[in-house]
Amino acid sequence: MKKPNEMTIVEAAKKLRAKEFSVRELWDACAAAAHAQNPELNAFLEIFDAEQADIEAAQRRIDREGDTAPPLCGIPLAIKDNILIEGKVASAASKILENYRAPYSATVIEKLKAQNALFVGRTNMDEFGMGASTENSAFGPTKNPRDTSRVPGGSSGGSAASVAAHLALGGYGTDTGGSCRQPSAYCGVVGFKPTYGAVSRYGIIALGSSLDQVGELANSVADARILFDAIQGHDPLDATTLPDKLYEVSQTPKRFRVGVPQHLLEGVEPDVRAAFDTTLNRLRDAGHEVVDITLPTSKYALPVYYIVLPAEASTNLARYDGMRYGLAKRLPAQAGGKTLLDDYVETRAAGFGDEPKRRILIGTFVLSAGYVDAYYRKAEAARVLLRREYDEAFKKADVIAFPTTPSPAFKFGAKSDPVAMYLEDVFTVTANLTGMPAISVPMGEVEREGKKLPVGIHFTAPHQAEERLFRIASAVY
Ligand code: GLN
Repeated sequence: MKKPNEMTIVEAAKKLRAKEFSVRELWDACAAAAHAQNPELNAFLEIFDAEQADIEAAQRRIDREGDTAPPLCGIPLAIKDNILIEGKVASAASKILENYRAPYSATVIEKLKAQNALFVGRTNMDEFGMGASTENSAFGPTKNPRDTSRVPGGSSGGSAASVAAHLALGGYGTDTGGSCRQPSAYCGVVGFKPTYGAVSRYGIIALGSSLDQVGELANSVADARILFDAIQGHDPLDATTLPDKLYEVSQTPKRFRVGVPQHLLEGVEPDVRAAFDTTLNRLRDAGHEVVDITLPTSKYALPVYYIVLPAEASTNLARYDGMRYGLAKRLPAQAGGKTLLDDYVETRAAGFGDEPKRRILIGTFVLSAGYVDAYYRKAEAARVLLRREYDEAFKKADVIAFPTTPSPAFKFGAKSDPVAMYLEDVFTVTANLTGMPAISVPMGEVEREGKKLPVGIHFTAPHQAEERLFRIASAVY
């Protein structure tokens, strides 16, 4: 029999209401698993103590409201370390914020608390969300629960690993270029990125403000949907959020035209390609149609992303200057000649890891007066073309499919060249550049060195058509 922490949210919510176990028992099962496995996995940067009052409040609500209690009531969740929880440290896995305590909660956290969800801990990530393996964390990498010699993906690697290892029933991450979907594919769970603006970014430590969305990591598609529903909606504190409940439900077709850009699949490893083709055949058998589409501008998506993202990141990271947040390094008084600039330089040199420094340099360069036209403005123009091309493709297809990644999880250190790491995002960044919703679901396994490793299929839908993604993903997983 499954332990309470091994259940999906849907299963656990049912058992809680049937009194087969209590909220306390569910919490204890997750906390015990987290404490037992975290020394090896390093999925959590901090496992929270049980909050007796919160556990009791959730139990009372389930007892009182039964089926009408929110589905996340009493459910222990994993929260990425860049999502603010009042009173808790939120470090974005950076030394510069190592001791930063959030003075308020993100809107998504307020919403979850209102539903009496519980938080197991804050999860490891690539520093500020920069990376695709969680190796860029200032606090050591997370290991992939499916093969601990391999990365869990990133940047939401801690959330993906904790959900895959059943240390929490569901998780939240952020997805700026693939950070929920790619680690989900590597850990064998469902990863979802909503439409830009579907979820409030208030209280999220910003990376790329025009790209960032809070996303979900789950053990089933139904769970991903519950996690999304719980946090989506307009927020007066985030002017980029969309009006409430605009996403289409009624017009969603039953049978889909699944658009596949064959020309983009060249670099996909043969057995990943085979798993993808098998999955497409399963979709055909279920009555869906697979159609060819072309997305010629997509080959520019990665270079465009690696101009736009560093530009926005360099701006967002300017606030960590030793004056306001977290780490403040001062030159010793006796050094003399201490200036404000010295404080900035000392703090940023000591506080940021290599990848944030690299991106601050690139971002500052592409925004500089001499180069802004050549790089940043061109990238923004290409972004418009990319979006138009996708809008066009959605006339022929209801969803667009490709493998989430060209290969399964790689070994630690295998992508020490930054550009090799950037190539990890080749399939995922477009959904962020266009603001479209996207999902990754497990599509099978491939073997590497005698171990079976999960791989994912990725679907993109038009803005606010998340319903299509939940439906097509349910046909796969
Ligand atoms: N891997 C991508 C990057 O390094 C995506 C990061 C993210 O989505 N936060 O920028």
